[in-house]
Amino acid sequence: MQNSNDSSSAAHGGVVLAGLSKRYADGTTAVDNIDLRIEPGTYCCLLGPSGCGKTTMLRMIAGHETLSEGAILIDGKNVTGRTPRERGTAMMFQNYALFPHLSVRDNVAFALRVRGIDKKARLFEADRVIEQVQLTALANRLPGQLSGGQQQRVALARAIVMKPTVLLLDEPLSALDEFLRLQMRGELRSMQRTLGITFIHVTHTQLEAIAVADQVVVMDKGRIAQSASPRVIYAEPRTEYVAAFIGGQNVLHGEVTALSDAGVTLRGAQGANFLLPRDGSTLQTGQTVSFAVRRDRMQVTGDTEAVALAPNSLRGRVRELEYQGIYMKVSLTTEDPAAPGCVVYVEENTFFKDPVSVGQPVRCHWAADEAHGLAAMA
Ligand code: ATP
Repeated sequence: MQNSNDSSSAAHGGVVLAGLSKRYADGTTAVDNIDLRIEPGTYCCLLGPSGCGKTTMLRMIAGHETLSEGAILIDGKNVTGRTPRERGTAMMFQNYALFPHLSVRDNVAFALRVRGIDKKARLFEADRVIEQVQLTALANRLPGQLSGGQQQRVALARAIVMKPTVLLLDEPLSALDEFLRLQMRGELRSMQRTLGITFIHVTHTQLEAIAVADQVVVMDKGRIAQSASPRVIYAEPRTEYVAAFIGGQNVLHGEVTALSDAGVTLRGAQGANFLLPRDGSTLQTGQTVSFAVRRDRMQVTGDTEAVALAPNSLRGRVRELEYQGIYMKVSLTTEDPAAPGCVVYVEENTFFKDPVSVGQPVRCHWAADEAHGLAAMA
């Protein structure tokens, strides 16, 4: 995985998970035989719905949870069974876990005290890190005298003062309001670049993951559905699950009627042909295939129902219009039972040049090379 970190030559914290599994005593398999490589100095997001195993995987990497099977390597060393300190990891918790009776400075210095570092050295180091997270003016306050965003910075300072090679962040932004969340995610990203270490950040928010990460790992029921750069995850989701979870896509289906070097021809439920680029997969005529087309890569035009459907188009009615500023979200009800709810994002100027209205019969259509074949679900 190529990351966008400028200081990658000095980067640390390469993580390899080999056949990693976690089964709890009650028989729940939270993580199921996962193989994953995270290059040193990568900002990696573990993304998936509630219960998919993200936190369990993070806690295993951190050294806070035992493994049922497999191994964890950090910078080439097998750290399975080692303590967090021995493996060079630090964790930033969702609820920040700050000591309420200690000042910001003492909260940050606390971990160094546990390591037996003398008072002068630990306060010097704490002040250096507090400056890095821009809290110098508040260093003597108690956590209860800080805003949520400031508490989050203390938690970050307390984790990085340990000089970890891998920093694990469990839903670090979930307690913040929308405005602070956007600000803090930028700060986390820039802190990761400055430190040149690996961040592994658990989130269930798609846009958060694709905004900050070099590598997005989409999880499904304890397994990895896809691991790739945000661009690839968004533009080339591998399966229907990833396309649906990441959003911004319409997932359509058709039956293979012809195969040629130029591509695959499918017949949709409304009788139109859909063309798919050939991607080397072994398809057969008669097979039902799923594909995705991005919402912003479809067009909508008023329909004359008497006219036969052109290739790569669907017929429907406008169910709802939502103005989103830079685009109009046009939701359609189609007669295709496999894709009853198509959504198209029409750029604002384009929409208002020739607007459609709620209830109007329309066609949505797309260029053949905008269709992206999806692998069958596991
Ligand atoms: P969320 O986003 O809700 O935090 P998650 O993706 O982080 O979810 P995990 O907390 O890793 O998911 O949980 C994965 C699965 O393991 C879930 O089915 C959960 O109920 C189960 N699980 C977690 N901890 C335990 C435990 N101590 N004992 C039994 N099952 C557990």
